[in-house]
Amino acid sequence: MAQHFLLSAKARTLSVVKVARMTEEEARAMFRAIRWADTDGDPVCPQCGCFAVYEYKARPIFKCKGCGHQFSVTSGTIFASRKLPVRDYLLAIALFVNGAKGMSALQLGRNLDVQYKTAYVLAMKLREAMSAEHAEMTLSGDVEVDGAYFGGHVKPENKKEDRKDRRLKENQTGERRVVVVMRERGGRTLPFVFRSEDASVPTIRARVETGSTVYADEAPSWDDLHASYDMHRINHSIAFQDEDACTNQAESFFSRLRRAEIGTHHRISGKHLNAYAGEMAWREDTRRMPNGTLFTLTAAAAMNHPVSRKWKGYWQR
Ligand SMILES: [Zn+2]
Repeated sequence: MAQHFLLSAKARTLSVVKVARMTEEEARAMFRAIRWADTDGDPVCPQCGCFAVYEYKARPIFKCKGCGHQFSVTSGTIFASRKLPVRDYLLAIALFVNGAKGMSALQLGRNLDVQYKTAYVLAMKLREAMSAEHAEMTLSGDVEVDGAYFGGHVKPENKKEDRKDRRLKENQTGERRVVVVMRERGGRTLPFVFRSEDASVPTIRARVETGSTVYADEAPSWDDLHASYDMHRINHSIAFQDEDACTNQAESFFSRLRRAEIGTHHRISGKHLNAYAGEMAWREDTRRMPNGTLFTLTAAAAMNHPVSRKWKGYWQR
Protein backbone atom coordinates (compact mmCIF):
# COMPACT_ATOMS: atom_id res chain seq x y z
CA MET A 1 0.00 0.00 0.00
CA ALA A 2 1.14 3.53 -0.70
CA GLN A 3 2.20 5.77 2.14
CA HIS A 4 -0.62 6.83 4.47
CA PHE A 5 -1.88 10.14 3.09
CA LEU A 6 -1.84 11.94 6.42
CA LEU A 7 1.87 11.17 6.83
CA SER A 8 2.90 12.10 3.31
CA ALA A 9 4.95 15.16 2.32
CA LYS A 10 2.01 16.26 0.19
CA ALA A 11 -0.18 16.55 3.26
CA ARG A 12 2.34 18.76 5.05
CA THR A 13 2.60 21.38 2.33
CA LEU A 14 -1.04 22.15 1.60
CA SER A 15 -1.88 25.81 1.52
CA VAL A 16 -4.89 28.05 0.99
CA VAL A 17 -3.69 28.83 -2.55
CA LYS A 18 -3.31 25.16 -3.45
CA VAL A 19 -6.79 24.35 -2.20
CA ALA A 20 -8.31 27.38 -3.95
CA ARG A 21 -6.87 26.24 -7.28
CA MET A 22 -8.34 22.75 -7.03
CA THR A 23 -11.14 21.64 -9.30
CA GLU A 24 -14.19 20.12 -7.61
CA GLU A 25 -13.01 16.71 -8.81
CA GLU A 26 -9.57 17.18 -7.25
CA ALA A 27 -11.19 18.37 -4.04
CA ARG A 28 -13.33 15.23 -3.89
CA ALA A 29 -10.24 13.09 -4.44
CA MET A 30 -8.50 14.86 -1.57
CA PHE A 31 -11.56 14.54 0.66
CA ARG A 32 -11.55 10.79 -0.03
CA ALA A 33 -7.82 10.50 0.62
CA ILE A 34 -8.22 12.18 4.01
CA ARG A 35 -11.51 10.64 5.07
CA TRP A 36 -10.58 7.11 4.07
CA ALA A 37 -6.83 7.38 4.66
CA ASP A 38 -6.72 3.85 6.11
CA THR A 39 -7.99 2.30 2.87
CA ASP A 40 -5.90 4.56 0.63
CA GLY A 41 -8.95 6.62 -0.36
CA ASP A 42 -11.28 3.68 -1.08
CA PRO A 43 -14.76 4.39 0.30
CA VAL A 44 -16.01 2.60 3.39
CA CYS A 45 -19.75 2.40 4.08
CA PRO A 46 -20.54 4.80 6.95
CA GLN A 47 -23.57 2.70 7.87
CA CYS A 48 -22.11 -0.82 8.22
CA GLY A 49 -18.34 -0.35 7.74
CA CYS A 50 -18.33 -2.53 4.62
CA PHE A 51 -15.42 -2.17 2.13
CA ALA A 52 -17.37 -3.52 -0.85
CA VAL A 53 -18.74 -0.33 -2.31
CA TYR A 54 -20.08 0.40 -5.77
CA GLU A 55 -19.13 3.71 -7.40
CA TYR A 56 -21.64 5.26 -9.78
CA LYS A 57 -20.12 6.59 -12.97
CA ALA A 58 -22.52 9.45 -13.61
CA ARG A 59 -22.90 10.87 -10.08
CA PRO A 60 -20.44 11.31 -7.20
CA ILE A 61 -22.37 8.82 -5.08
CA PHE A 62 -21.46 5.42 -3.64
CA LYS A 63 -23.60 2.41 -2.83
CA CYS A 64 -22.73 -0.22 -0.26
CA LYS A 65 -22.90 -3.78 -1.63
CA GLY A 66 -23.48 -5.07 1.89
CA CYS A 67 -26.39 -3.00 3.19
CA GLY A 68 -27.45 -1.03 0.11
CA HIS A 69 -26.82 2.35 1.80
CA GLN A 70 -26.18 5.20 -0.64
CA PHE A 71 -23.72 7.83 0.47
CA SER A 72 -21.54 10.68 -0.74
CA VAL A 73 -18.03 11.63 0.25
CA THR A 74 -19.43 13.87 3.01
CA SER A 75 -22.28 11.65 4.31
CA GLY A 76 -21.97 10.79 7.97
CA THR A 77 -19.32 13.46 8.57
CA ILE A 78 -19.60 16.89 10.12
CA PHE A 79 -20.17 18.23 6.59
CA ALA A 80 -23.26 16.08 6.00
CA SER A 81 -26.18 17.75 4.16
CA ARG A 82 -23.77 20.27 2.74
CA LYS A 83 -24.78 23.16 0.55
CA LEU A 84 -21.40 24.27 -0.79
CA PRO A 85 -19.00 22.58 -3.22
CA VAL A 86 -16.61 20.13 -1.51
CA ARG A 87 -13.69 22.40 -2.38
CA ASP A 88 -15.17 25.24 -0.34
CA TYR A 89 -15.16 23.09 2.80
CA LEU A 90 -11.50 22.28 2.29
CA LEU A 91 -10.90 25.98 1.72
CA ALA A 92 -12.73 26.83 4.94
CA ILE A 93 -10.44 24.44 6.85
CA ALA A 94 -7.30 25.89 5.22
CA LEU A 95 -8.38 29.44 6.13
CA PHE A 96 -9.50 28.49 9.63
CA VAL A 97 -6.28 26.76 10.69
CA ASN A 98 -4.23 29.75 9.55
CA GLY A 99 -5.87 32.06 12.09
CA ALA A 100 -3.49 31.79 15.04
CA LYS A 101 -5.81 34.05 17.07
CA GLY A 102 -8.85 32.22 15.78
CA MET A 103 -11.11 33.33 12.96
CA SER A 104 -14.38 35.21 13.22
CA ALA A 105 -17.42 34.05 11.29
CA LEU A 106 -17.53 37.47 9.60
CA GLN A 107 -14.02 37.07 8.24
CA LEU A 108 -14.54 33.45 7.22
CA GLY A 109 -17.79 34.43 5.50
CA ARG A 110 -16.07 37.22 3.59
CA ASN A 111 -13.24 34.95 2.51
CA LEU A 112 -15.54 32.18 1.34
CA ASP A 113 -18.22 34.51 -0.04
CA VAL A 114 -20.97 32.89 2.00
CA GLN A 115 -23.56 34.27 4.43
CA TYR A 116 -22.57 35.03 8.00
CA LYS A 117 -24.88 32.29 9.30
CA THR A 118 -23.28 29.68 7.06
CA ALA A 119 -19.78 30.70 8.13
CA TYR A 120 -20.78 30.78 11.80
CA VAL A 121 -22.09 27.21 11.81
CA LEU A 122 -19.14 25.99 9.73
CA ALA A 123 -16.65 27.53 12.18
CA MET A 124 -18.56 26.06 15.13
CA LYS A 125 -18.46 22.60 13.52
CA LEU A 126 -14.71 22.90 13.00
CA ARG A 127 -14.29 23.90 16.67
CA GLU A 128 -16.36 20.89 17.70
CA ALA A 129 -14.19 18.56 15.60
CA MET A 130 -10.95 20.10 16.91
CA SER A 131 -12.11 19.66 20.52
CA ALA A 132 -13.51 16.15 20.05
CA GLU A 133 -10.26 14.51 21.14
CA HIS A 134 -10.51 16.31 24.49
CA ALA A 135 -13.55 14.25 25.47
CA GLU A 136 -11.60 11.22 26.68
CA MET A 137 -8.24 12.84 27.40
CA THR A 138 -6.41 12.43 30.69
CA LEU A 139 -3.13 14.04 31.71
CA SER A 140 -0.24 12.83 33.85
CA GLY A 141 3.26 13.76 34.98
CA ASP A 142 3.80 17.48 35.65
CA VAL A 143 0.48 19.24 35.24
CA GLU A 144 -0.23 22.96 35.64
CA VAL A 145 -3.71 23.97 36.76
CA ASP A 146 -5.06 27.51 36.58
CA GLY A 147 -8.32 29.41 36.16
CA ALA A 148 -9.27 32.70 34.48
CA TYR A 149 -12.53 34.58 33.85
CA PHE A 150 -13.88 35.09 30.35
CA GLY A 151 -17.07 36.26 28.68
CA GLY A 152 -19.88 38.51 29.87
CA HIS A 153 -18.15 41.74 29.01
CA VAL A 154 -19.76 44.78 30.64
CA LYS A 155 -19.04 48.01 28.83
CA PRO A 156 -17.82 50.74 31.18
CA GLU A 157 -20.01 53.87 31.38
CA ASN A 158 -18.71 56.99 29.71
CA LYS A 159 -18.73 59.23 32.75
CA LYS A 160 -16.63 58.28 35.68
CA GLU A 161 -19.39 58.93 38.24
CA ASP A 162 -21.69 56.47 36.43
CA ARG A 163 -19.18 53.66 36.47
CA LYS A 164 -19.83 50.55 38.48
CA ASP A 165 -17.37 48.15 39.97
CA ARG A 166 -17.38 45.52 37.24
CA ARG A 167 -15.69 43.01 39.52
CA LEU A 168 -18.81 42.77 41.68
CA LYS A 169 -21.23 39.99 40.95
CA GLU A 170 -24.34 42.21 40.90
CA ASN A 171 -22.76 44.33 38.16
CA GLN A 172 -22.01 41.41 35.87
CA THR A 173 -24.13 39.93 33.11
CA GLY A 174 -24.37 36.36 34.35
CA GLU A 175 -22.52 35.33 31.18
CA ARG A 176 -19.21 35.32 32.98
CA ARG A 177 -17.53 31.93 33.39
CA VAL A 178 -14.22 30.64 34.59
CA VAL A 179 -12.09 28.62 32.22
CA VAL A 180 -9.99 26.13 34.14
CA VAL A 181 -7.10 24.67 32.23
CA MET A 182 -4.98 21.60 32.93
CA ARG A 183 -1.76 21.59 31.01
CA GLU A 184 0.74 18.77 30.94
CA ARG A 185 4.28 20.15 30.71
CA GLY A 186 5.54 19.18 27.28
CA GLY A 187 2.13 17.67 26.57
CA ARG A 188 -1.50 18.51 25.96
CA THR A 189 -3.79 21.33 27.07
CA LEU A 190 -7.24 20.49 28.44
CA PRO A 191 -9.71 23.32 29.18
CA PHE A 192 -13.15 23.23 30.82
CA VAL A 193 -15.70 25.92 31.62
CA PHE A 194 -17.27 26.33 35.08
CA ARG A 195 -19.21 28.88 37.06
CA SER A 196 -16.44 28.93 39.69
CA GLU A 197 -12.97 27.50 40.25
CA ASP A 198 -14.34 25.43 43.13
CA ALA A 199 -16.70 23.61 40.79
CA SER A 200 -13.75 22.38 38.71
CA VAL A 201 -12.12 20.22 41.40
CA PRO A 202 -13.99 16.93 40.60
CA THR A 203 -13.16 17.33 36.89
CA ILE A 204 -9.49 17.92 37.68
CA ARG A 205 -9.47 14.76 39.79
CA ALA A 206 -11.07 12.82 36.93
CA ARG A 207 -8.72 14.14 34.23
CA VAL A 208 -5.35 14.36 36.00
CA GLU A 209 -4.11 10.89 36.79
CA THR A 210 -3.19 9.83 40.31
CA GLY A 211 0.54 10.10 40.94
CA SER A 212 0.85 13.34 38.96
CA THR A 213 2.53 16.46 40.29
CA VAL A 214 0.23 19.47 40.13
CA TYR A 215 1.40 23.10 39.95
CA ALA A 216 -1.10 25.77 40.92
CA ASP A 217 -1.31 29.26 42.37
CA GLU A 218 -2.43 30.21 45.89
CA ALA A 219 -6.17 30.37 45.10
CA PRO A 220 -7.99 28.54 47.94
CA SER A 221 -9.96 26.41 45.46
CA TRP A 222 -6.85 24.34 44.83
CA ASP A 223 -6.37 23.44 48.52
CA ASP A 224 -8.67 20.45 48.00
CA LEU A 225 -6.25 19.00 45.45
CA HIS A 226 -3.58 18.34 48.11
CA ALA A 227 -5.41 15.18 49.11
CA SER A 228 -4.99 13.78 45.59
CA TYR A 229 -1.66 15.01 44.24
CA ASP A 230 1.85 16.09 45.04
CA MET A 231 1.16 19.85 44.98
CA HIS A 232 3.48 22.77 44.23
CA ARG A 233 1.95 26.18 44.87
CA ILE A 234 3.17 29.55 43.73
CA ASN A 235 2.31 32.92 45.18
CA HIS A 236 2.08 35.24 42.19
CA SER A 237 2.39 38.38 44.27
CA ILE A 238 5.83 37.28 45.46
CA ALA A 239 7.50 35.54 42.55
CA PHE A 240 6.42 34.74 39.01
CA GLN A 241 9.55 33.07 37.80
CA ASP A 242 10.10 30.40 40.43
CA GLU A 243 11.57 27.75 38.16
CA ASP A 244 9.71 24.84 39.68
CA ALA A 245 6.32 26.04 40.82
CA CYS A 246 5.29 28.23 37.89
CA THR A 247 2.09 27.98 35.87
CA ASN A 248 3.54 29.76 32.83
CA GLN A 249 2.28 27.20 30.33
CA ALA A 250 -1.27 27.43 31.64
CA GLU A 251 -0.97 31.21 31.39
CA SER A 252 0.28 31.11 27.82
CA PHE A 253 -2.91 29.23 26.95
CA PHE A 254 -4.96 31.95 28.66
CA SER A 255 -3.16 34.69 26.80
CA ARG A 256 -3.95 32.96 23.51
CA LEU A 257 -7.62 32.65 24.47
CA ARG A 258 -7.62 36.30 25.64
CA ARG A 259 -6.13 37.46 22.33
CA ALA A 260 -8.83 35.51 20.49
CA GLU A 261 -11.54 37.07 22.65
CA ILE A 262 -10.28 40.64 22.36
CA GLY A 263 -8.66 40.61 18.94
CA THR A 264 -10.90 38.33 16.91
CA HIS A 265 -14.32 37.75 18.41
CA HIS A 266 -14.63 40.89 20.61
CA ARG A 267 -16.95 39.04 22.91
CA ILE A 268 -17.61 35.40 23.61
CA SER A 269 -20.78 34.33 25.37
CA GLY A 270 -20.60 31.96 28.31
CA LYS A 271 -22.73 29.48 26.40
CA HIS A 272 -20.13 28.93 23.69
CA LEU A 273 -17.00 29.61 25.71
CA ASN A 274 -16.11 25.89 25.85
CA ALA A 275 -15.98 25.72 22.03
CA TYR A 276 -13.52 28.63 21.83
CA ALA A 277 -11.46 27.33 24.75
CA GLY A 278 -11.22 23.91 23.06
CA GLU A 279 -10.18 25.49 19.78
CA MET A 280 -7.46 27.62 21.39
CA ALA A 281 -6.14 24.61 23.34
CA TRP A 282 -5.86 22.74 20.06
CA ARG A 283 -4.07 25.70 18.45
CA GLU A 284 -1.70 25.98 21.41
CA ASP A 285 -0.82 22.28 21.24
CA THR A 286 -0.24 22.30 17.47
CA ARG A 287 1.45 25.72 17.25
CA ARG A 288 4.78 24.41 15.93
CA MET A 289 3.32 22.21 13.20
CA PRO A 290 3.35 23.27 9.53
CA ASN A 291 0.11 24.62 8.01
CA GLY A 292 -0.38 21.57 5.85
CA THR A 293 -0.25 19.30 8.89
CA LEU A 294 -2.79 21.48 10.69
CA PHE A 295 -5.01 21.34 7.62
CA THR A 296 -4.93 17.55 7.36
CA LEU A 297 -5.33 17.08 11.13
CA THR A 298 -8.40 19.32 11.18
CA ALA A 299 -9.83 17.89 7.98
CA ALA A 300 -9.38 14.33 9.27
CA ALA A 301 -10.95 15.27 12.62
CA ALA A 302 -13.92 16.87 10.85
CA MET A 303 -14.43 13.97 8.46
CA ASN A 304 -14.18 11.37 11.19
CA HIS A 305 -16.49 13.31 13.46
CA PRO A 306 -20.14 12.26 13.29
CA VAL A 307 -22.90 14.63 12.19
CA SER A 308 -23.04 17.46 14.73
CA ARG A 309 -26.16 17.17 16.87
CA LYS A 310 -25.71 20.71 18.08
CA TRP A 311 -24.92 22.48 14.83
CA LYS A 312 -26.71 20.51 12.12
CA GLY A 313 -29.65 22.59 10.90
CA TYR A 314 -28.89 25.18 13.59
CA TRP A 315 -30.65 28.12 11.91
CA GLN A 316 -33.69 26.06 10.91
CA ARG A 317 -34.73 25.47 14.51
ZN1 LIG B 1 -23.18 -0.68 4.28
